[in-house]
Amino acid sequence: MKKILFWMWIVAVITILVSLLIMGFKLLDGNYDIVAEGSLCGVCLAVNCVYAFSRLSGLRCGYCGKIIWQQDRYCPHCGGEIKK
Ligand SMILES: [Zn+2]
Repeated sequence: MKKILFWMWIVAVITILVSLLIMGFKLLDGNYDIVAEGSLCGVCLAVNCVYAFSRLSGLRCGYCGKIIWQQDRYCPHCGGEIKK
């Protein structure tokens, strides 16, 4: 699960860079039709934010070490009780 998130993050970063490049070239070319690239960039930025948020706010289960949400009382992975 953690690896999937990591690769999603890598793909999102690359997509942001590529779409920014495409937008830059289009703007330099006098083409202001960058809605597709802009929204793609926005989606990837959102993915990035979600990833950063999950890394920052995600607690780790003391039993299995997996990331869990703060509002959970029990680990969804192993069922261990979360100590606050
Ligand atoms: Zn656990």
